[in-house]
Amino acid sequence: MTFDEAKKVVDERLKPETFVEEEVSLLDAYNRVLKENVVSALDIPPFNRSTVDGFAVKAKDTFGAEENQPVTLKVRGVVNIGELPKIRIMKGEAAEIVTGAPIPEGADAVVMVEDTNIEAKELRVYRAITKEGNVMKKGSDIKKGETVLKTGQVLGASQIGVLAALGLTKIKVFKVPVVAVLSTGGEVTEPGKELPDGKIYDINAYSLNTAVRESGGKPLYLGVVPDDKVALRKALDRALASADMILTSGGVSVGPHDLTPQIVDSLGEPGVFVSGIAVKPGKPTTVALVERKPVFALPGHPTSALLIFHLLARPVIQLMSGRTATEAKTVKALAGKRMFQAKGRRTFVMVKLKRGKSNALVAEPVETGASGAITTLAKADGFVEIPENQQFIDADEEVDVVLLKGTV
Ligand code: AMP
Ligand code: MG
Repeated sequence: MTFDEAKKVVDERLKPETFVEEEVSLLDAYNRVLKENVVSALDIPPFNRSTVDGFAVKAKDTFGAEENQPVTLKVRGVVNIGELPKIRIMKGEAAEIVTGAPIPEGADAVVMVEDTNIEAKELRVYRAITKEGNVMKKGSDIKKGETVLKTGQVLGASQIGVLAALGLTKIKVFKVPVVAVLSTGGEVTEPGKELPDGKIYDINAYSLNTAVRESGGKPLYLGVVPDDKVALRKALDRALASADMILTSGGVSVGPHDLTPQIVDSLGEPGVFVSGIAVKPGKPTTVALVERKPVFALPGHPTSALLIFHLLARPVIQLMSGRTATEAKTVKALAGKRMFQAKGRRTFVMVKLKRGKSNALVAEPVETGASGAITTLAKADGFVEIPENQQFIDADEEVDVVLLKGTV
């Protein structure tokens, strides 16, 4: 399978309608993604309201009012905020009103207190107001029946404020996918424990946990499993029971200890649908679907595991969380040296960015083979892609560097 075929088949297998939703309270809705269209059940504001402190009047009564020629109106009383006014304004009358209070019947405008004066218990209005002046009409903000927010919108302070305006307390959102992360290999030891001879510490569980979080998922750390069929099966069953997606690393090559693909395929239907990809690194990558849950069996090499996660698993986590899979950030740079393609396979070259002559950005390949197995991760800023039909990228050629850091 080519890289493009693998990406396509992963996309096709994942059906958005199977993504899980949950209901959360508005107070817990920050940064969640709506999984429903929200239609307003009411007009907002629910009544005509004043936008200023002043006097509710019939606009016509103020016509002709000027600084040195005020009109005089009779004050009928006060409109209280938070209740419907009992007063009805007749010709030549006014009622005192505050910002946000309902406009009394008969009135159609509000003169600002700054344009008035009370003299001998009478109201003097020094500036004319037009009809509906300083009045916010019922439903002018949101109409009853209007779709206010749509599926897929990410909820921030203003969106959650709008939901509160509609009187809602709960909302349907995409569940943040729980992604089980487990490492395999008899040589892999959990950090914090003593390191026996011949063993190495677990890198992948930690880098992948963090990558899941960066992609908007919720990692579930399941530790290290030895290369043993029964133990692997047990750990994967546990992962399936408690997570929406599974990431394993290691044990996908063709050695005697490489049991992951076989065990993953036995977990349930439909099983493995990507079994090796023509890429470098990451060729043995295996992808399965078990009870609608995606399982990515990533290579053991830490750089390969993180690269394949980035290329294939990260977009899946984003989609499951209801977010559109974002393109990673790229920068243009000049190739620091000639980079070769691996025999017909889509090749990803890990690079470090430097400033070269006349301050140009230069992508310097980072050793990923035997000598750079671990440090590549820390050194690389991103990668350069060499397509299947191109044998090499020449030194000083312009390349796109896909950034691995800060890519959310
Ligand atoms: P494997 O695919 O299991 O043969 O692993 C390939 C290489 O990656 C081996 O050198 C492993 O020791 C190493 N490796 C596998 N898993 C991890 C891990 N979780 N952390 C660090 N290195 C690992
Ligand atoms: Mg192994």
